[in-house]
Amino acid sequence: MRLAPSAVLLCVALAMCLSPVAAQQSNVSESRDTARLVAVTSAEPLTGVDLAGFDIVDAPDDRLSAMVIAWSAGLVELQQRGLTFQVIEEDLERFYASRLATPDELAQMAAPSAGSTVTPPFGQGSMGGYYIFDEVVSILDQLAAQHPTIMTTKQSLGLSIEGRDLWAVKVSDNPGIDEAEPEVRFDALHHAREPAAMQTQLYFLIWLLDNYGSDPLATYLVNEREIWFIPVVNPDGYEYNKRNNPNGGGMWRKNRRINQGTSAKGVDLNRNYPFQWGFDNIGSSPTPSSSTYRGTGPASEPEVAAMTAFMAAHDFGTALSMHTYSDLWLAPLGYTSTLPVNDADYDEVGALATAVNGYPYGPGAVLLYPANGITIDTDHGVHNTMSWTPEIGSQFDGFWPATNKIIPLAQKNLEALQVTALAGGPFLRATGLQLIDEGDGDGILEPGETVAVIISGRNSGMGTSNGATASLSTTSPDASLVTASVSLGAWAGFSDADNSATPLRFQIDSNIPTGTSVSIVVAMGELGLTDDLTTTFTVDNDWAVSGPGLAGVNGVPVLSAQGALIAAQAGSLDLAAAAPSASTYLVLGFNALNGAFKGGVLVPTPDVVLSSLATDGAGELQLPFAWPQNVPTGTQIWAQYWVQDAVGPVGFSASNGLVGTGQ
Ligand SMILES: [Zn+2]
Repeated sequence: MRLAPSAVLLCVALAMCLSPVAAQQSNVSESRDTARLVAVTSAEPLTGVDLAGFDIVDAPDDRLSAMVIAWSAGLVELQQRGLTFQVIEEDLERFYASRLATPDELAQMAAPSAGSTVTPPFGQGSMGGYYIFDEVVSILDQLAAQHPTIMTTKQSLGLSIEGRDLWAVKVSDNPGIDEAEPEVRFDALHHAREPAAMQTQLYFLIWLLDNYGSDPLATYLVNEREIWFIPVVNPDGYEYNKRNNPNGGGMWRKNRRINQGTSAKGVDLNRNYPFQWGFDNIGSSPTPSSSTYRGTGPASEPEVAAMTAFMAAHDFGTALSMHTYSDLWLAPLGYTSTLPVNDADYDEVGALATAVNGYPYGPGAVLLYPANGITIDTDHGVHNTMSWTPEIGSQFDGFWPATNKIIPLAQKNLEALQVTALAGGPFLRATGLQLIDEGDGDGILEPGETVAVIISGRNSGMGTSNGATASLSTTSPDASLVTASVSLGAWAGFSDADNSATPLRFQIDSNIPTGTSVSIVVAMGELGLTDDLTTTFTVDNDWAVSGPGLAGVNGVPVLSAQGALIAAQAGSLDLAAAAPSASTYLVLGFNALNGAFKGGVLVPTPDVVLSSLATDGAGELQLPFAWPQNVPTGTQIWAQYWVQDAVGPVGFSASNGLVGTGQ
């Protein structure tokens, strides 16, 4: 887990592809200050003190380099700290804008496959494809009108410092009622220059609404969760970026607070949350001009005050406070590298959430650098909400991924958002399936026998399940269900369960031929959402031995002869006659066998006397052997097979194939 991506190569590549843009910029605007992407390098690992006050967008594990965002004053600051650095991109706003679709290009784009029922369609917002604030508000209105039974109309959590609403919507069945269902929260755009997080969140919202009633997961999430969306926490900063860069690419990060006694504006809203606010000056800055300025006090900013009141008024099981970029999945704690007590739970959900996007996951202070006063620390530390900050998008994507990356990034992260919503309540996953022979108990599933089925599972979520069941089914006509469904009882979060106390059962029909393949499916879950496991087995049969001291069954050895000339086949065993007898023989069957092959047994058990090999003329090798007298019951007879063609040995079977067990 916890691997930070190496940035250095990426940054070199980025620098090369950006250099023409940078050169052009220097001719155009000499006096305008620009946001720069800066690579800081060091012979010794860079500390939080070295980089205090900077927005760190990447930090490889070895800490010998870091990527930060800096304006002119930031470059001076880096110099004063004696750090070695290189400007990778001189003008990020210009660079980002160069990758974004123009209004003319946007007007000609085809309808997207998801999000085409809203205007503008998803991925075609007027700011280079990104929705401006007014469009986000309109989209919320449009979606609420289209899905009134499962989504609320927008509600204001409070006003920003310039008087804009922080809009929230809830998706659930009976959306107007506060039901006793696990609550989940998704927010975005604390940082005004990170619109891909807002887009990714809206994509998930649209997926939920569009797939309700047809997709079991969407239906379950809507029915069994109350999912809140606050797509724009910092509308003022986002509007400010639109005003200065109407086609996208704006690099303003903070809110628009007028800080007393300085011309430097803005507070970093993701450093203004109350839990461990201002813990130190490494994870947030006391300096108003810093991009990580934490403000004058905990929740001093109206945007954060509105959010903290909302967090306190609800009982969120999980939350994502979404940011960009770095391809990371950051968990608490941010303010210190001490691990949270439920770090294992964070890892469990983090691993499941990032299965598709592949993001490294772990505590922010460990994976990146310490940051205090952050949203997810207040979620975790004050409300026991399991909360993460995804950093959506790679070093190449940056703060304003190219227009044609808006949908792919949202798709790449869809499962991560689904998993997080699941983990806010019970999140039941099937982890194993076991068949138990309840007939003669020899482990061979034979005609007529009853088989018990045990499924194991894990609740990887915050909620207790009270309605979990396991249900058995089969499409095979050769198996009949005996116990088709059982209850799994109360099942607490982050614990395992199975149905060994109340097995499922089926019976194999008595008169089907051996070799028949039977598949069974066990669906485990609750309230319409199941995780299914399938297993297929071959109905086998005892072979009868009537010789002295022998009677009973065997297992058929599985031969996997290896080699280019042999198609590996399961062997068959044929003890045709009573033992001991020269006419008792082992048959090794191979598809591609012809007269050029020979084979043999290298390592017989002492109880078996081998004789020479013969072929039966039907594509099989026959290996006669003699059963000795008085073999004790339960003796296992082992052999190792080999086969060769005309040229030489082509391979051995798995060693110690089980030939049979005397009974
Ligand atoms: Zn951010």
